[in-house]
Amino acid sequence: MSADRTLPGTGHDAAGEDTGWQRELREQFPIVTGHPESVYLDSAATSQKPRAVLEAVQTYLTTSNANAGRGTYPWANRTTDLVEGTRERVKEFLHDPEPDRSTVHFTSGTTEGLRTVARDWLVPYLTDGDEILVPFADHRANLDPWLEARRLLAERGVDVRVRALPYQAVSGDYDHRALAGLVGPRTRFVAATHVHHVYGGDMNVHRIRAVVGPDVPICLDAAQSVGHLPVDLADPALDVDFVVFSGHKAMALPGTGAVWARNARGPGFRPDGWQGTPNTAGIVSLRAALDWLDTAGVDRIARWTAALALRLTDRLRHLDPYEILGCPTSLAADSALPAAQRRHGIVTFRHRDIPSDDLGFILYSHGFMVRADSLCQAGAAKEDGAVRVSPHVYTTREDIDRLLAVLASLA
Ligand code: PMP
Repeated sequence: MSADRTLPGTGHDAAGEDTGWQRELREQFPIVTGHPESVYLDSAATSQKPRAVLEAVQTYLTTSNANAGRGTYPWANRTTDLVEGTRERVKEFLHDPEPDRSTVHFTSGTTEGLRTVARDWLVPYLTDGDEILVPFADHRANLDPWLEARRLLAERGVDVRVRALPYQAVSGDYDHRALAGLVGPRTRFVAATHVHHVYGGDMNVHRIRAVVGPDVPICLDAAQSVGHLPVDLADPALDVDFVVFSGHKAMALPGTGAVWARNARGPGFRPDGWQGTPNTAGIVSLRAALDWLDTAGVDRIARWTAALALRLTDRLRHLDPYEILGCPTSLAADSALPAAQRRHGIVTFRHRDIPSDDLGFILYSHGFMVRADSLCQAGAAKEDGAVRVSPHVYTTREDIDRLLAVLASLA
């Protein structure tokens, strides 16, 4: 291990392993290699797309573009097969243990996915006096639909109580102990987040399952996990009923996403009404993206981005004017909280004196594209703005070191 690969104070290799594979994968992103002056660090908002995905879309649109589920000619049949095949591919990608029972519904992203679960599944499932637990400090896409469900039910005279999932003060993880005091016989549903989009923390959904017991359906907002780290439904620790994600954050085209439903607790998931023409090119891109991710190895991508986040966090936390949101030490090897909360490839921080939107502009003047606002966090006001850095497989250690040099010069 060479000295420059060792993080101060951690004794850990910042990248974990040889980087030849990473350079090879990085070369497959035309927008990245085509803009050497720019560093895209906003992959939690949307990912860049590898050539294989762009080519799959080009091939589809230039060889068999047609509508799905309607045709009697080869292009239409092929499109239908592509769409139906992608449903199965999503199940396979998620290691669905019971693919014959589950369903996959395509959406434009996580927001639409969660709204569909709320309207088409939760509303008919709940009865007067039921209680649901939902997150009030995660992405607002994972709060608004549940509040809307309560409103729709109230209009029908069905009174449902919405309780807030409790959080731990420092880490941003859910407070599973406090949660135990909120769960009762009328608890019928929990909405949770897999990886927090501000803090990058794993929200330990297995502990929610342990608290609520085996019968309560759990809907998981997996916008920051699918495509970024392994999501394995065969793992008993991921005993959830819905996985909702954005394809566009997982290397597929904008306007793609999906809901996976286990169909084992409560009624089966059947989105209401006529669905219209699906986003066929987007679905083709999703299939190519999942193929690409499986070949690339989501495991090592996750290790890579977590190592980059660790590199950034471990240096930034020693620079006085910066405050890292969430638990700044939980990533570090010298953390007093070993394995308290696994952190993934997202780092969000503030500068004591420079407003976050100004810091965003300053960083952009050096070529760094970061998110700098209130990050769509439920309950966050404009003045709660922060800067979020979210690397992906195309991000290099040099990118992070150059960013650190700029941040240090502002200290
Ligand atoms: N949930 C989380 C945790 C997110 O990070 C995002 C995207 N920032 C969303 C939901 C919304 O996803 P989309 O914009 O694809 O609907």
